[in-house]
Amino acid sequence: MIDTHSHIYEKEYDLDRQEVVENARRKNVSQTILANVDSSTIAPMKQTAQEIPDFFAMAMGLHPTSITANNMTTELEQIRTELETGSYCAIGEVGIDLYWDKTYIAEQTRAFEIQIDWAIEFDLPLIIHTRKAFAEIFASFAKFRNKPLRGVFHCFSGGIEEAKKAFSIGDFSLGIGGVVTYKNSTLPTLLKQISLERILLETDAPYLAPVPYRGKRNEPQFLEQIAEKLAEIYKVPIEKIDEVTTKNAKKLFFGN
Ligand SMILES: [Zn+2]
Repeated sequence: MIDTHSHIYEKEYDLDRQEVVENARRKNVSQTILANVDSSTIAPMKQTAQEIPDFFAMAMGLHPTSITANNMTTELEQIRTELETGSYCAIGEVGIDLYWDKTYIAEQTRAFEIQIDWAIEFDLPLIIHTRKAFAEIFASFAKFRNKPLRGVFHCFSGGIEEAKKAFSIGDFSLGIGGVVTYKNSTLPTLLKQISLERILLETDAPYLAPVPYRGKRNEPQFLEQIAEKLAEIYKVPIEKIDEVTTKNAKKLFFGN
């Protein structure tokens, strides 16, 4: 299985990163994509990927909650410089987040659209982060009609209408993680209407650990609990979930 979204470069793993990777491999997780946040995470992310290059791939982007009126231009410059090295399998994570704070909605939107442009220019998929901002996200995408776009709505939190809209933008998938195992999640009902070909597995580690690890530090090895839940929802063996979602991830991020 491929964990398509994690932050294993964070300090939470400094003492046992090697072990975290070994435990993941033992649970049949062969790889994880590290999602960047801002200029402060670039160096630790590259360092982590360098240590175990066959396990980590990297996505480069500026996260919406890191954006202010003052830092946007310099932050984006650093992201752009990194993208030009060609070391990245995706642009991410990028998007609009209005959950806590709407102060920088204009800057968030501008940065998102600049990075959509880069996805087209570098021919890379987008890893999209959105909270309380589906309307704004779709309004931005409307400016890129008929452009060849692909990507994933990471930690998808919408309903069927948002899912349908996401698929209409281009070759888009839904990233499904620990939330699907939570008691009040609406995802199990939604997923019954979504083809497994549109689903990617992700942990978002260290956040959003699945049941029974909810509240603890998340790890790629817990992809197993997410895949088990999907097997239950789709009424197929877990091997099928593994096979199809791995194929989906390879096609989107690695073109094979
Ligand atoms: Zn993330």
